[in-house]
Amino acid sequence: MTPELGAPVSAIKGVGGVREAALARLGIRTVGDLLRHYPRDYEDRRDKRKIGDLSENACAVVRATVVSVEKGDPRASRRGARRSPLKLLVRDDTGAMEILFFGAPHLANAFKRGEEYLFYGAVTRGVRALRMLHPDFGRADEDGGRDILPVYPLTAGLSRKNLRGWIAALLKSAAGIEECLPADTIARNKLCGLAYALENIHYPADMRRLREAKYRLVFEELLTLQTGLLLLKSASGIKGRGIAFRDGGAAVAGFVESLPFALTGAQKNTLGDIERDMESARVMNRLVQGDVGSGKTVIAAAAMCKAVKCGYLAVMMAPTETLAKQHLEEFERLFRGRGLRVGFLTGAVKGAERRSLLEKIEKNEIDILIGTHALIQPGVAYGKLGLVVTDEQHRFGVRQRVGLSKKGRDPDVLVMTATPIPRTLALILYGDLDISVMDERPPGRRPVVTRAVDASGRDAAYRLMRRELAAGRQAYVIAPLIEDSDESSLRSATGLFEELSERFREYAVALIHGRMKQAEKDAVMGAFYAGETKLLVSTVLIEVGVNVPNATVMLIENAERFGLAQLHQLRGRVGRGLAQSYCVLVTENPSKEAAERARIMVSTEDGFAIAEKDLELRGPGEFFGLRQHGIPPLRIANLAKHAKVLTAVKAEAERLLADDPLLESPKNAPLKAEIDALFASVADIGI
Ligand code: ADP
Ligand code: MG
Repeated sequence: MTPELGAPVSAIKGVGGVREAALARLGIRTVGDLLRHYPRDYEDRRDKRKIGDLSENACAVVRATVVSVEKGDPRASRRGARRSPLKLLVRDDTGAMEILFFGAPHLANAFKRGEEYLFYGAVTRGVRALRMLHPDFGRADEDGGRDILPVYPLTAGLSRKNLRGWIAALLKSAAGIEECLPADTIARNKLCGLAYALENIHYPADMRRLREAKYRLVFEELLTLQTGLLLLKSASGIKGRGIAFRDGGAAVAGFVESLPFALTGAQKNTLGDIERDMESARVMNRLVQGDVGSGKTVIAAAAMCKAVKCGYLAVMMAPTETLAKQHLEEFERLFRGRGLRVGFLTGAVKGAERRSLLEKIEKNEIDILIGTHALIQPGVAYGKLGLVVTDEQHRFGVRQRVGLSKKGRDPDVLVMTATPIPRTLALILYGDLDISVMDERPPGRRPVVTRAVDASGRDAAYRLMRRELAAGRQAYVIAPLIEDSDESSLRSATGLFEELSERFREYAVALIHGRMKQAEKDAVMGAFYAGETKLLVSTVLIEVGVNVPNATVMLIENAERFGLAQLHQLRGRVGRGLAQSYCVLVTENPSKEAAERARIMVSTEDGFAIAEKDLELRGPGEFFGLRQHGIPPLRIANLAKHAKVLTAVKAEAERLLADDPLLESPKNAPLKAEIDALFASVADIGI
């Protein structure tokens, strides 16, 4: 009988109550989910060894008969006595070996004397004979005599045996499973069928079949993701007819002229790209990837000038209240004397002030509007929305971006990100966005001198800080926690603030963290911007966007707790002026990976190179919080490893949508259903 993929797992024999709940914890609710609970690894039992041929310290599979079972006592009978393990003596026709299990008395009943089992594990030398500690094991006749067995992610209340049994039973009738990819897609990309892929991802007969199965499933998942993202964007109308901003060229030139500096080559190119997009009737959908300090804000401002000159409202959405405020101040400075009406809308703007602002927005009596998520809440009606700039895109989901552009009639969209994204990822995340890269910093900036030290380097770092403060500069100190905690030896911002207030008594020291009230945060940031406070102790709160060119020291405590993208952002807070800047990473007992991250930070300041390394090190699961990008969790595809597949996937997705832009044709219905299922889990990010 064909399994009903949509049926709840409780339809499977032996699944109910506790086990059903345990499966739900793994995200498995339906029969289809279970079939797509892919192994995380395989146990390869093809290479069976005779006990007489075993060598120490190698992993092996042994088929042997249990001779004796010694139960042992996990509680230790006498005080001070060692816990005694469950001990098996097993034998084949070439010799005998010991199998030990510590703290597992329940396994005593799993073995019967005289029966044959397979044991799979690392071989070590025991007192009398070779032994295996805690091997995987199974009855020699179970698993249908298969040799490559799946190893599944588990959770409490589920055994490997449960999952193997249920999935193997489902697969028996899997030949009847309906294919979810269009036949053309399968043929064009030389993919195997779904039933074959499922059979061989769980129980591959050999490695070639496993590879075929895996490729097909990875392709399918990436295609679902890519097609889904493209659909989401086209459904938002971004692809439709846009506004042609025909005037405003002179206004942009005048604005650029008024700046106290000349634009860099990269800034000029990017602004050129933007102006061309804006002048055309196509909707602009451009991503500006600017490394930290490359000067994105003035480019956004120039584009906004153009929109306003053509009679439209231009908005800029920032991820936090603090950053929105910073932009407000910067824009007020940049636009001084230009007669622009600048509005500010965040959750904190309330009552009569809010009502009057909303009215002005609707009547198009505002030129430039800056704010946070509040800009896209229901109840904000835009009169003539022409340009949407979202700053620091990686804090927003795809749906939020779409939500804002929906507010107008196909406004142009400019996305600014300060966190470079490797090309492979940009391809899928921003499938149909045009990309401008700003990989150049304003002239005269010197590389930030970066050092990674352990606790013993802290004093030298403080001496450096004192010297910089004495020269009139400012400094940041970052800690991973807000407050000291009994459970953790990590540094806290509050603890450091007290310590440093004492140590740097002659300077104004301030503290900022996410648990403070918005007004307090504003006051602290305001004083730091104004140069009234010299030393700012913070959590990662100031990670993105903060711009105080006079700050020259960034000291990061417990740097091992931060990812590369965060470290790069944090370091980007210094080196923003002409003076030499410094970044000190203090790490205590770093893991191998943390030490590698520190090494990368010391070796390069190029955000694009760092992003590539980050993707390699972490894998895409955690990469910049993909979920924040609006990317659903993937089951088998790995955006770092499967970059090559992505290229083929992108071409296929574009082809499918060129033929059937909304995937409405019956042959695409199963794929459409897959897309809906995949994106169901990110619906909560949306609006
Ligand atoms: P980011 O790209 O990190 O957002 P900002 O836009 O905040 O960078 O710019 C960083 C600093 O560099 C700001 O103080 C800005 O005024 C200044 N700046 C921008 N472009 C140039 C330039 N071409 N020459 C000199 N300074 C510039
Ligand atoms: Mg910025």
